[in-house]
Amino acid sequence: MRVPLSSPDITEHEIQLINQVLRTRYLSIGPMIERFEGAMANYIGTKHAVGVNSGTAGLHLCIRATGVGEGDEVITTPFSFVASANCILFERARPVFVDIDPETLNVDAEKIEEKITPRTKALLPVHVFGQPCDMDKLIAIAAKYDLPVIEDACEAIGAEYKGRKAGTFGRCAVFSFYPNKQMTTGEGGVIVTDDEEWADLFRSLRNQGRGRDGGWLTHEQLGYNYRLDELSSALGVAQLERIEELLAKRDKVAQMYNELLADTDGVKVPCVSPQVRMSWFVYVVRLASGIDRDRVMARLEEKGVASRPYFSPIHLQPFYRQMFGFKEGDFPITEAVARSTLALPFHGNLDEESVEYVCDALGEIISQEA
Ligand SMILES: *Cc1c(COP(=O)(O)O)cnc(C)c1O
Repeated sequence: MRVPLSSPDITEHEIQLINQVLRTRYLSIGPMIERFEGAMANYIGTKHAVGVNSGTAGLHLCIRATGVGEGDEVITTPFSFVASANCILFERARPVFVDIDPETLNVDAEKIEEKITPRTKALLPVHVFGQPCDMDKLIAIAAKYDLPVIEDACEAIGAEYKGRKAGTFGRCAVFSFYPNKQMTTGEGGVIVTDDEEWADLFRSLRNQGRGRDGGWLTHEQLGYNYRLDELSSALGVAQLERIEELLAKRDKVAQMYNELLADTDGVKVPCVSPQVRMSWFVYVVRLASGIDRDRVMARLEEKGVASRPYFSPIHLQPFYRQMFGFKEGDFPITEAVARSTLALPFHGNLDEESVEYVCDALGEIISQEA
């Protein structure tokens, strides 16, 4: 058996809507992106949603909106996908990392205040693997120091913290629709915000710095081509119509894993805080210390089971070490977690037989390794 790491959930419904766009001949800046943005703002519960062509592009525009520049600092987590810190570098500001909570794997809110300096300009928490951060604490710190919060919600569409959706806590938030995410547009993302000025700014910046009512060749500011095209938007509309189904299917697979792995020695299943609704992005287990994670991965591969170390710490990426002098030991919890975590095959259409196969394979390998 071969079990892939992820797979998008595409039905005839998606295909039909995309075909409809192709027949209209409007492939960019048409009605479909507006329909997608309206549906997204409605789903998340924000006043505005601005479609962009990747989560990374969305994060970049959020950082642009804060106005940070050379020498400014933005507080974030080293345990994330590299884009959540790169967006800070795009504007020559400095990511200031705060180590994580070993259970939720999100930034440890208790350790943020000691990192705040007069140069701190924003907080950029990441809802890792679809579990919202401890937003009460984060928002309290942001209010105390008057800092905008940018939520990297790229992995957390539909997640909730104390009954409130991820993406509604910060000044703005970004969701990604890369094919391995809970819903996809191929490539794509969206920024959500209640702030009208920022929404206007995002719309201009994604569209080459054009003004709202200005001409096609009038550029009011330095902008980019970060537009989401009509085909991607159509895929987004169709996926968003099925979002609760998509999330429920993933939740069901996660619960299957939880049950099957509950008694496997040496394997710790994901820890979900009782105050959140998890939106399952990946299914990541932690192996007990002493088990060689990379050997387990190699042996899973031999059995046809794809897996991946999620994440490799950002501060230890070669160019971060070079730019900032980061080294092993700087963020010990992040590093210990990163050494022992393993993402197992995970998507909404993974059937029971495949989940059982993966769990049996993992159990067998672990019993031989331990
Ligand atoms: C996927 C992801 C991104 C980037 O999204 P892209 O759409 O791939 O650019 C950013 N941050 C996190 C935490 C992600 O998981």
